[in-house]
Amino acid sequence: MDPNKLNHTPPTGESKLIKTRPNTGGLARRPQVRPKTEGWTQLTNPDGRPTLQFASPRVKQPATHLADMTLEEREAKVVEMGLPKFRAKQLSVHYFEHRTTSPEEMTDLPKGRREELAEAFFPPLLSEVKKLVTDDGNTVKFLWRLFDGALVESVLMRYPGRITLCVSSQCGCGMNCPFCATGQAGLTRNMSTAEILDQVVQANRFIAEGGLGHKRRAGNGAEPERVNNIVFMGMGEPLANYKRVMNAVRRMVAPSPEGLGMSARGITVSTVGLAPAIRKLADEDIPVTFALSLHAPDDKLRDELIPVNSRWKVDEVLDAAYAYYEKTGRRVSIEYALIKDMNDHAWRADLLADRLNQRGRGWVHVNPIPLNPTPGSIWTSSTKEVTREFVDRLNAAGVVTTLRDTRGKEIDGACGQLVATEQDRADAEAFATS
Ligand code: SAH
Repeated sequence: MDPNKLNHTPPTGESKLIKTRPNTGGLARRPQVRPKTEGWTQLTNPDGRPTLQFASPRVKQPATHLADMTLEEREAKVVEMGLPKFRAKQLSVHYFEHRTTSPEEMTDLPKGRREELAEAFFPPLLSEVKKLVTDDGNTVKFLWRLFDGALVESVLMRYPGRITLCVSSQCGCGMNCPFCATGQAGLTRNMSTAEILDQVVQANRFIAEGGLGHKRRAGNGAEPERVNNIVFMGMGEPLANYKRVMNAVRRMVAPSPEGLGMSARGITVSTVGLAPAIRKLADEDIPVTFALSLHAPDDKLRDELIPVNSRWKVDEVLDAAYAYYEKTGRRVSIEYALIKDMNDHAWRADLLADRLNQRGRGWVHVNPIPLNPTPGSIWTSSTKEVTREFVDRLNAAGVVTTLRDTRGKEIDGACGQLVATEQDRADAEAFATS
């Protein structure tokens, strides 16, 4: 008998919490599928715990770019080059507002120095490998190659009233979550502050050039539309690249010409649950939206689904998330990818509601999202009925819960999928020519 198919009995301590809830009829007794890697192996420490990569093996970063620097540092650099301070502001406007790094377009700079300035401030960061656009033109996925050949993705999405960019913060990821395409290749290196920001600038340029479909035209005094929502839900674990990610966030919210002048509320930092870093984030005094990828309310399952749970358990990350809410007054998001027969049981919805309500009311909302599936594997999204019941049970318990839509399925919308395909292609080519 396949042990994955055994009926699951919730651990005793947890079952007590839900005793009073109504039985769910036929939906209640469903199998318990356990997470496992498919096609790759999770490395473990001698103590049997999964190996996680917090430090990046490749440490070389790209040359310092304007976006890596504060305005003061930019000014110091132009002065060092024998130019007046105000040139730093002009360069910053060119990059953040005109979205250009090409010297020919910088006509307000002294002609004889343009090349040299562009070279000093704008080393090449992201070059486009591929761009995939959905049929309706509202979702665009970019695959970028970085200076050292590393590949990362970002996804641009138009919603009614807002434009969201999903950015990457690391090349690969060291957190090894078995359902995530990025988790399977390991961590190559941290992205620099400027590499993170350049994803936004490149997306803004693409929008200004009309790539995302013209909903509003620039001209007659109207500025082109731009990204006004950023989610750190691309490749990587943002809190494992804490300093560079926070510098990127600071520059996103800094007014022009220091930065992009965005609202912190429009920026979501999503984490797998590095509890100490969550507490540090709460102390930053930048009111970003905070999202926690929980995916399971019980340690037994979360230990396998989110390997970092071997370091910081469900209660610890929920305490840290609650502390974030207390400190900032910002409502926390809980991400929950619904995976068929793995984490989508009614008792888990109830347990999640209990664990959240134990800490308080109104401090959190839950965002279940159908898993972006891997065909023919255990990683399949929940059925519609199960999804509905999961959402309803949370709402009935007073936890605001909204199902997130999946975008860009037709273009491998889930993070890391495109890089994985590109890597396979490159590997196949290397194999063919060897
Ligand atoms: N490391 C961060 C951000 C990366 S991914 C984090 O873990 O939060 C952003 C979200 O996408 C996370 O909630 C992640 O668990 C989720 N995710 C990864 N692979 C997915 C898949 N195949 N289907 C649905 N969500 C997925």
